[in-house]
Amino acid sequence: MQFPFEPFKIKVVEPLKRTSREERDKVIREAGFNLFKVPADSILVDLLTDSGTSAMSDNQWAGIMLGDESYAGSKNFYHFEDAVRRIFGFRHIIPTHQGRTAENLLFSVVLKPGNIVPNNTHFDTTRANVIHKGGHAVDVLNRAGRDPNSVEPFKGNMDVEGLERLINEHGPENIPLVMLTITNNSAGGQPVSMQNVRETRAVCRKYGIPLFFDACRYAENCFFIKEREPELARKTVLELAQELFSYGDGCTMSAKKDGLVNIGGFLAMNSQEWATKATNLLILIEGFPTYGGLAGRDLEAMARGLEEVLNEDYLRFRIGQIRYLGEELDRAGVPIIKPTGGHAVYLNAREFLPHIPPSQFPGQALAVALYREAGIRSVEIGSLMFAEKDPQTGEVRYPDLELVRLAVPRRVYTSMHMNYVAESIISVFEKRDEIRGFRIVEETEYLRHFTAVLEEV
Ligand SMILES: *Cc1c(COP(=O)(O)O)cnc(C)c1O
Repeated sequence: MQFPFEPFKIKVVEPLKRTSREERDKVIREAGFNLFKVPADSILVDLLTDSGTSAMSDNQWAGIMLGDESYAGSKNFYHFEDAVRRIFGFRHIIPTHQGRTAENLLFSVVLKPGNIVPNNTHFDTTRANVIHKGGHAVDVLNRAGRDPNSVEPFKGNMDVEGLERLINEHGPENIPLVMLTITNNSAGGQPVSMQNVRETRAVCRKYGIPLFFDACRYAENCFFIKEREPELARKTVLELAQELFSYGDGCTMSAKKDGLVNIGGFLAMNSQEWATKATNLLILIEGFPTYGGLAGRDLEAMARGLEEVLNEDYLRFRIGQIRYLGEELDRAGVPIIKPTGGHAVYLNAREFLPHIPPSQFPGQALAVALYREAGIRSVEIGSLMFAEKDPQTGEVRYPDLELVRLAVPRRVYTSMHMNYVAESIISVFEKRDEIRGFRIVEETEYLRHFTAVLEEV
């Protein structure tokens, strides 16, 4: 079936509040035209992020009631450990309350100042954790991934030759590990092929460097592998995940994505030495090794979510829903990044609003217009988030792409909601000449997009 049919029925509902255009106009002005400052109950369809926003199943909620809140040795920990080991296969499993803590533990243990960490593309928190420990985070993305017009099937891949060059340039002794982010979030949620994982592993083995996965969207990635690597089409997504992780030495995981939970994560690895060090640090910053900053009930929900997410009817719906939204927009001529990835559709704001220069934040202008028009919250990924001022010349460097991301929470919105989103965006597209740019009135030194105050020019 082509139409993304929801493979679930709805037992609990959360009402949505409609607002008028006038109300939204007032709210967005009061928020300084910054969507991060808009209260969530003034939003109709919230596509800010797919992180921690999943709907849990009846099975997960039932698991919540079976939470064993013992300080040490909770039965939910053992279930969680079994679930992770069955899918990921790593020997040591360290629960954390979310992905960035797993990153913090890992890099605290393995990095020495001046070390290099290669990654197909670092996610923001991964990069920040590498830098925080004195390392250099280097992205080694393949060429297709850097080309917004390429329709290659695996635009998330590592540039394997580039990786080998980087290793030779800096010496393997200065590279404590190589990371592969699946799917490649910062490069549009594009998948990494099994072939690329094997080739990356071969280079890592050649130089004796461990390979770690940033595994947040492992199930979505493995579903793409099943669809797009013909020789693997007959394997189950679970078998593909098991094979993929067998090529690595460990992973970090934010279960707020493909764990189908609202909070949770883990660090897993085969090295006894690193695991011991990470566990000692865990006790210092998160909690005892059998709960790691979570309640027993959270561990149970995570164990069940990690298993449910491998259901192929669910994944067909999930990937199909994103693709459907992308196709509806594409058919109407709305510029999007193609092919659509696993968790979001990206609007190309530079092409959508060619009359607004990067200095006037076309991505933000589009995100604000979507909110005003339809109560849809998206996020700008463009010059508001990434423009950099050269410290010497004072000249501002703008990012290559001006995007607006529509990230779709898991199991939360129906295909009819997607129709509403598509129609609203098309109607904004038809009136695009009326949209004006913005200027910044107040900003902070770091991560200004979260708090900046803007005004319309
Ligand atoms: C979300 C995310 C993280 C960080 O996880 P948190 O749970 O938000 O701390 C790391 N890597 C990728 C690819 C992510 O998408």
